[in-house]
Amino acid sequence: MQIQLSSLLVTAALTVMASASALAQRPVTDQMIDNDARTTSDILSWGLGYQGQRYSPAKQINTGNVARLVPVWSFSFGGEKQRGQQTQPIIHDGKMYVTASYSRIFALDAKTGAKLRKYEHRLPEGIMPCCDVINRGAAIYDNLVIFGTLDAQLVALNATTGEVVWKEKIDNYADGYSYTAAPLIVNGLLLTGVSGGEFGVVGRVEARDAKTGRMVWMRPVVEGHMGYKYDKDGRASENGVSGTPGKTWPGDLWKTGGAATWLGGTYNAKTGLAYFGTGNPAPWNSHLRKGDNLYSTSTVALDIKTGQIVWHYQNTPNDGWDYDGVNEFITYEDGGRILGGKADRNGFFYVNDAKTGQLVNAFPFVKKITWATGIDLKTGRPNFVPENRPGDPTGATDGKGKVVFAAPSFLGGKNQMPMAYSPETKLFYVPANEWGMEIWNEPITYKKGAAYLGAGFTIKTLNDGPIGALRAMDPKTGKIVWEVPNNAPLWSGVLTTGGNLVFWGTPEGFLQAADAKTGKVLWKFQTGSGVVAPPVTWEQGGEQYVAVASGWGGAVPLWGGDVAKKVSYLEQGGSMWVFKLMK
Ligand code: CA
Ligand code: CA
Repeated sequence: MQIQLSSLLVTAALTVMASASALAQRPVTDQMIDNDARTTSDILSWGLGYQGQRYSPAKQINTGNVARLVPVWSFSFGGEKQRGQQTQPIIHDGKMYVTASYSRIFALDAKTGAKLRKYEHRLPEGIMPCCDVINRGAAIYDNLVIFGTLDAQLVALNATTGEVVWKEKIDNYADGYSYTAAPLIVNGLLLTGVSGGEFGVVGRVEARDAKTGRMVWMRPVVEGHMGYKYDKDGRASENGVSGTPGKTWPGDLWKTGGAATWLGGTYNAKTGLAYFGTGNPAPWNSHLRKGDNLYSTSTVALDIKTGQIVWHYQNTPNDGWDYDGVNEFITYEDGGRILGGKADRNGFFYVNDAKTGQLVNAFPFVKKITWATGIDLKTGRPNFVPENRPGDPTGATDGKGKVVFAAPSFLGGKNQMPMAYSPETKLFYVPANEWGMEIWNEPITYKKGAAYLGAGFTIKTLNDGPIGALRAMDPKTGKIVWEVPNNAPLWSGVLTTGGNLVFWGTPEGFLQAADAKTGKVLWKFQTGSGVVAPPVTWEQGGEQYVAVASGWGGAVPLWGGDVAKKVSYLEQGGSMWVFKLMK
C-alpha cells in the first residue's frame, strides 16, 4: 500500500514537471541545428537545415494522399500592415515563430494557431528598403529567437517570455542599410549580411555570438576593404584586407561598391564554409567601373572559424544589368564530391565544387538570355554579347547611353524565392521567370543615403504567355525534366519531401503540390492573397503539417513596369496557413 502511494506521488510530480517544461521551450543546441535537415519534428533553420536544401524526409503526406490536404488553421498578421510576406517560419517544441511585414514577429501554437505573443519593432521614419517592407524569417538558438529589422538592427527575444535579451545595430539605416534575410546560425555563431545594394553600401558578412550579440568577426565582400576580428571585450583588430585594393575596380569606386549580401547564407558542415551570394556592384552603370569588380555578383565561401574568404566564384563579372548574385548556394553530394547549385538572377544555373569553388557545370534555366551566349566551363567566365550591354552615357546629347533590351530582366531568371533540392530525385526545383527589360545608363555621382544606380529601366513581358515556371532541373545534364508554367511571375520558395512531393506558391494565391518526378499537379488551395514565401513541413503528435505565409508583395509590384501593370489585379494580404490530411 505504501509503495503504491509513493509511486502515485512520483507520477504526480512528473506531471507537474511535464507541464512546466511545456511552458519553457527546450534550449536549441548546436547539435539540434546540425541535425535539423534530418529531424522532421522541428524546423530550426532557413532552408530546413543550414544547407538550404528545403527537403524534408517526412512522407506521411505523399503523392497518393495529398489530395486530402485541408486547412487546419489560418492566422492573420493583422493591422493595416499587409504588404509582402516572404517569411519562412521556425518550428520548435510545438511553437511557430514567424516574422511578418514591417519588422514584426509572432509566436503561435503550431497545432492550433493560437497567438502566444507578438513583438513589433518600432521603425523610425525614413527607412530605405528597396523592395518592400518584407522579412524572410527568424533564427533560433538556445532560448533565443533572433530576427533582423528594416532599420538594420538585430533583435534577440527570449523565446518563452518574449522579452528583448539583446539588440545590436548592423549599420545606419539613413545611409541606405536595411536587413531582411533570416540569420544563419552555425556553431553558436549568428551569421548575417546586409541589404542596401541600390544605395552604395559595402556588402559584408558578420559573425556574432548568438547568445550575446557580441561581434566575433566581420568580412567585407568588396575588394579593398579591411576585415576585423573582435576579442571578448569587443576590441577590434585587423584581420586582413579582402582582395587587393583597386585591382578590379578603377579609382575609389570600391569604397561604395555595393555587393550587398541581402539574401543571407547557407552552410556545409563537411567543408566548414558558409556560402553567401553578393549583389550588384554599385552603381549600375558598368562603364564607370571597368574591371571585374570583385566580389560583387559572386558566390563567396567563408571559413566560419577565421572569417576569411576561402574561395569566390563570380557569376557576372562587371555586371551591367543588376544581376545580383545573391541566390542561395545549396550544397549536395554527388558520389564522393560535395557540390553546390545556384540558379542565378542572370539566367544561368551554376554547379561549383563546394570545397574549391571550381566550376563544374553551367547552363541556362530560362529560355531567353541576351547578355551572354553561355558560360565557358574552362575559364569559368561568361561569353559576353558586347552589343547587348547598356551603353556608356558619356557625351550622349540626351544624357542617356544606348538603350538595350535585356533578358532576363533585373528581377531575374530567379529572384529571392529559394529553390529546393531533393537527394532522392537528385533534381533542383527552380522557380523561374521569363521576362526582359529596356535598360540604359545615365550619369551618376555617389551621395550617402541616396539611390546610386546611374540607370533607368522598364520591365517588359517577352510575350503574352505565362511569365513564371516551376522547373525541375537536372544539375548533371542541365536539362529541364519537367515544368509547370504560371501566368504571373513566381515569387514563392519551394519545398520538396520524402513523400515525392514538391510544394510552391503562386502570386494568384495558390499553394500547390506536384509529383516530384513528373510535375503532375495533385493539389492546390487558394490562400486569399499571393504567395511569395517558401512553404515548410514538419511532424507533430503523429501528424504531418504543411505551412506557408500568404501576402502578395515584394519587388514585382514596386519595380515590375509592364509586368506590374499586368498583375495589378492581385490583392495584398498577410496571414499564415497550416494544412494536414483530412482523416
Ligand atoms: Ca528539423
Ligand atoms: Ca540589386
